Amino acid sequence: MSRSEMSSFDSCFLGPFLLIANQYLGVIVDEYFMLWFCFVSSSFSANILQLIHMVVLTGLLTGRVTLNGHLAVMKVRTDPICSVCGEEDETSVHFLGKCPATIMDKHSSLGSYFLRLDELCCIQPHALMRFVRASKRFK
Ligand SMILES: [Zn+2]
Repeated sequence: MSRSEMSSFDSCFLGPFLLIANQYLGVIVDEYFMLWFCFVSSSFSANILQLIHMVVLTGLLTGRVTLNGHLAVMKVRTDPICSVCGEEDETSVHFLGKCPATIMDKHSSLGSYFLRLDELCCIQPHALMRFVRASKRFK
């Protein structure tokens, strides 16, 4: 069940459409394989990408994201230093506001080269996601 409005070309209609087309044409492809293909292909649609973006954004805002600072706290890494600039611990505040390696992406996405914590609190989520995508840090 979807909570958002569906369009007539929603990816959830791909499976039933292919089943009908497959039966109409005389079972060309195994239905089990075709339904798995539809499940996987629709999983990579915009809804899943939005979910991934929300997970990254929530992690950045809470500080619990795959940056070296948090990974060192979780004992996944031993070195909390930023792997891009090497100047200080790679925390959300460093990544979003201070890291000199991403200043051009920060300026084009957020309108400033460096941001203080009180300025970060005023940034809109879509602008933060634009910066995250531009930085290519969370692929
Ligand atoms: Zn850095």
